[in-house]
Amino acid sequence: MPPEFKDFARLLIYAVPVVITLAALEGVVLALTRKEAYDWRAALASLADFLLREFLVRRLLPLGLAAPFIAWAWQNRLATVQLDTVSAFVLLFLGQEFCYYWFHRASHRVRWFWATHAVHHSPEQLNLSASYRFGLTGRLSGSALFYVPLIWLGFPPAAVFLTLSLNLLYQYWLHTTWIPKLGWFEYIFNTPSHHRVHHASNPEYLDANYGGVLIVFDRLFGTFIAERADLPCRYGLVKPLRSYNPIKIAFHDWLQMARDLRGATSWRARFMHIFGPPGWSADGSGATTEDLRRRLANAAAGD
Ligand SMILES: [Zn+2]
Ligand SMILES: [Zn+2]
Repeated sequence: MPPEFKDFARLLIYAVPVVITLAALEGVVLALTRKEAYDWRAALASLADFLLREFLVRRLLPLGLAAPFIAWAWQNRLATVQLDTVSAFVLLFLGQEFCYYWFHRASHRVRWFWATHAVHHSPEQLNLSASYRFGLTGRLSGSALFYVPLIWLGFPPAAVFLTLSLNLLYQYWLHTTWIPKLGWFEYIFNTPSHHRVHHASNPEYLDANYGGVLIVFDRLFGTFIAERADLPCRYGLVKPLRSYNPIKIAFHDWLQMARDLRGATSWRARFMHIFGPPGWSADGSGATTEDLRRRLANAAAGD
């Protein structure tokens, strides 16, 4: 494994103070210029989430659930990709984007992964501080499993996860409400406009725009939804979580899942509470994207 990837990954720590300072500056500007009060407590909860994850969880849990699978894939790799040409880096970038797209799509469609990812979607205001709220349980849910195919093909794990870190760093500026649509850029790249839709809980906008740096896989796989001027985004979870306690925020959906499992009366229901879509309920009274859209269509038909 080339040592330079690990060295470069270590350099990313220097981005941390810049990321936090810019988010605070944005908060000051928004607090002074917007009618809506800036939610400083939510911003602090996001900062606490970030610091707990980076400086506590990473130390307590250096290896996640996916670690043995990653080790196996690398030991049994089909080839070894030499990252010394431009085309090899392009392949690494596209491969990582492809895996990220499916990781993110699964994170919205499979409760097991959503339980962690819901944390990222819990802030009710979209701003730069929301970009580093990811929850504390990603390593326990095995989200890195989605990169195993890339490693098995022969891309070094350190290079894959460094590319993922850069992908997440790119997404920092997407968490803004003050950057307008950006012309031709919107066709290829993920933008603040696309990501506003992604964070919106309006039924019309749910489950869309999963890309990281690119938006092309959404366009290709039918999950692209454009931001509409007539439909302002409403941020946060479908069922709002009004807590500023980072521990409560991190474990909220896991506890809800445990409650759902305790109340389940069949093995199918138990399976669906873990691997079905978020909001699933045995009696159909749930709040999956499909349930919400059906209710929206019925309401429109009733008008
Ligand atoms: Zn998401
Ligand atoms: Zn986001």
